[in-house]
Amino acid sequence: MGTFNITAFWLVLMLWLPHGLSMGNGQSNSNSNSCSASVLEARRFFELENELLRKRYHEKFLSVYTYNTNVTEENRQAMIEINARNAEFNKRLAQRIKASDYVQSEDADIRRQAEHLSKLGASALNPDDFLTLQNAISSMQTNYATVTVCSYTNRTDCTLTLEPHIEERLAHSRDPAELSWYWQQWYDKAGTPMRDHFAEYVRLTRKAAQLNDHRSYADYWLQFYEDADFERQLDATFKQLLPFYRQIHGYVRYRLRQHYGPDVMPAEGNIPISLLGNMWGQSWSEQLDLFTPYPEKPFVDVKAEMVRQNYTVEKLFELGDQFFQSLGMRALPPSFWNLSVLTRPEDRQVVCHASAWDFYQDSDVRIKMCTEVNNNYFYIVHHELGHIQYYLEYEQQPAVYRGAPNPGFHEAVGDVIALSVMSARHLKSIGLIENGRLDEKSRINQLFKQALTKIVFLPFGYTMDKYRHAVFRNELDESQWNCGFWQMRSEFGGVEPPVFRTEKDFDPPAKYHVDADVEYLRYFAAHIFQFQFHKALCTQAGQYAPNDSRLTLDNCDIFGSKVAGRSLSQFLSKGSSRHWKEVLQEFTGETEMDPAALLEYFDPLYQWLKQENSQLGVPLGWGPTNKISSDCCGTFST
Ligand SMILES: [Zn+2]
Repeated sequence: MGTFNITAFWLVLMLWLPHGLSMGNGQSNSNSNSCSASVLEARRFFELENELLRKRYHEKFLSVYTYNTNVTEENRQAMIEINARNAEFNKRLAQRIKASDYVQSEDADIRRQAEHLSKLGASALNPDDFLTLQNAISSMQTNYATVTVCSYTNRTDCTLTLEPHIEERLAHSRDPAELSWYWQQWYDKAGTPMRDHFAEYVRLTRKAAQLNDHRSYADYWLQFYEDADFERQLDATFKQLLPFYRQIHGYVRYRLRQHYGPDVMPAEGNIPISLLGNMWGQSWSEQLDLFTPYPEKPFVDVKAEMVRQNYTVEKLFELGDQFFQSLGMRALPPSFWNLSVLTRPEDRQVVCHASAWDFYQDSDVRIKMCTEVNNNYFYIVHHELGHIQYYLEYEQQPAVYRGAPNPGFHEAVGDVIALSVMSARHLKSIGLIENGRLDEKSRINQLFKQALTKIVFLPFGYTMDKYRHAVFRNELDESQWNCGFWQMRSEFGGVEPPVFRTEKDFDPPAKYHVDADVEYLRYFAAHIFQFQFHKALCTQAGQYAPNDSRLTLDNCDIFGSKVAGRSLSQFLSKGSSRHWKEVLQEFTGETEMDPAALLEYFDPLYQWLKQENSQLGVPLGWGPTNKISSDCCGTFST
């Protein structure tokens, strides 16, 4: 995840995996006590089918991994062939379950398995359509993985890749023309040429949704959350967070204006994404030095310290592995170290977008990413290792339950660990900084830096699927697919492209998850859940107490707490065998997604920003962007 866009393989897996719903009926196998002949017969049926499913996943993920770590036409074709074969198996299994009475079984676990396995995504399509869809998706992925752009300073050198070349320029250049150049090069090449493939993808996913009796593919995605009210809760959560985001947005725009002047950054309106240090504007911390609240209190340069101490990529993964082990959780198996691809290979094209993989056999789990030694990748390493730990913890579950009960949970595990790892207390303990307790000004600086990833991400994460939902539901006419995208980015996040965009451009596929058919609300949900998890684990570890200035959420480190580790392990090991509200309640005592813990974590910064912005007379909010045609569709207010 270049920045934090992270991952995802299991996510892709979650989309292919027929997931079901029906909330509240989840009981683990052990709770079922019926011994009737029909229940025993059903159990034998699912035992056998789960084992066959596991073997199919094993074969499938090996082929997908081979393609992702060696992007060739041959590997793409081999992957599509196996996917097509698996789709047929899934379809036949779903048909057999539908023809049986398993969904009405007296046994809750059998009902849950039957419901999960009889829901089909794209597998419901006929073989020709399925193949066409797979071709559209993998063509977009191949393009994303292989795009290169031309250098700003040497226009004849057109070999620059996103990771690391373009990311490095976006993070370090302070020349608005250069930043805009790289932004436009990327969107023109990674986005626009993919319009036809994306249109094909939309056409066929609509067809799949119809075959599955869903109103739209958006509704197919939303069913992963097993809660008919979840979409409304997302809207309500976003509204709760917006006042805090507006304070950050206003402050950053003010500081950008101070640095670049009013021609580049006017006092009011949307912020050009290219000035924010990240290709999609989903994280703004790379340009932190322009916004630091107290510049006289410099940040310790963690990257420089890593370099000084001769950190290697392996060392970053070892630190993550040690953290999980300190909690009493599993060590990474030898196959992880032998079979993962942790740096960009020189001799072939790979999909660099970071991802974590479960091969459904013999604890074979791997990571594929183009890691570099710096602070951002240090975080991504932990994010990906969270997926790996989840895979290991639910390994004993039947194949149908080897996933998270809420898509947001899988994305939150590594992030929770990273919240501890990035605390001053922990960075001191591993020798990367000298002071483990921050004074008030340094604490505001530190919280601000965190907010530039965690809070700034929220409007972005929210918009990605608000947009795709509107496309899937045909609420956005195809003639307005591009301007509608920017209208939403502007309305929800107050950001805009650095140059005028028309319908001749097509920008959504410039983001990996759009190409790869990965549902994105999971990341929004994960950003809320991770603070709920963090608060629960810190409490269990005795590292957090309300109103105790020595034990705050933002300086909690659960390293070494076996109590917290046991609790996390129990939570993860259930996989998706039960409804997410039940396992969440056992873990944190809560039954809903709730931003209260996140707001508590950041409250000192929120109070500071309100006061500072008011004193400086900083305007808040923004109007519509003028970087798209003024006759674009209406607004999308939630
Ligand atoms: Zn992830």
